[in-house]
Amino acid sequence: MTAETLEALADVEAATVEVHDVHKWYGTHRVLDGVVLTVRPREVTVILGPSGSGKSTLLRVINHLEKPEIGYVSINGELIGVKRHGDRLKELSERAILTQRGRIGFVFQNFNLFPHLTVLDNVAAAPVATGKLGKPEAQKLARELLDRVGLADKTAAYPRQLSGGQQQRVAIARALALRPGVILFDEPTSALDPELVGEVLAVIKDLATSGTTLVIVTHEIGFAREIADRVVFIDGGKIVEQGPPSEILDNPRHERTRDFLSKVL
Ligand code: ADP
Ligand code: MG
Repeated sequence: MTAETLEALADVEAATVEVHDVHKWYGTHRVLDGVVLTVRPREVTVILGPSGSGKSTLLRVINHLEKPEIGYVSINGELIGVKRHGDRLKELSERAILTQRGRIGFVFQNFNLFPHLTVLDNVAAAPVATGKLGKPEAQKLARELLDRVGLADKTAAYPRQLSGGQQQRVAIARALALRPGVILFDEPTSALDPELVGEVLAVIKDLATSGTTLVIVTHEIGFAREIADRVVFIDGGKIVEQGPPSEILDNPRHERTRDFLSKVL
């Protein structure tokens, strides 16, 4: 990256994310049942858990795509949730929610790139749409970010011309273009052919070592052991246990964690 762009990126504060006793339900189905979680700045948190345990819902609540029935989420101490048991917290305006969401990058399992835009425009679009950068500056930043994820030669391509691993790397560059304080990954390698998983994990590892706050839902246990500061095991909408990889992956205290690990390892 050029010195200028690095300087522009340096004003981004690595975010603290706090999830305060979040309950989320659909009808009678309790999907999140009192989740309490703190993600400290520059920490890498890996979330593990069986299918249907509430992992995606938790990320969606953090990103304000879902509202909790009880509980709230704060990013750098600013609330983005709404209610606490009995108390009434001020509801945020749509505009405030959008501002908050602009501080959070989200990388999906299925990339979700814009099919009709080039790789360069996929990455440059959001900073222009949100008025953060003019088009030339956004394109310059996009070129640098694409270089960082190893795709400097693909700027003019369309998503359909890329492999899944390349598309996911574009999606990561796109998330970075908004200079997020935290990036949420929802099973970023689950849709990839096995031989393409490594290139995406390498890019995520680069972000982890450069001090970006990351929350990653993944079943890649070896990767979790390598990069996680903290592993959170969730089952039935509850955090069963959390701690450093050496505890949760190598020495789990709960039967449910052991049972899950025996299936995915
Ligand atoms: P995970 O990501 O751990 O597989 P999810 O958070 O996607 O789990 O889903 C947790 C549970 O909530 C699942 O049983 C799912 O069917 C249910 N669920 C998720 N979203 C909705 C929704 N919009 N309406 C109803 N049920 C939902
Ligand atoms: Mg999921």
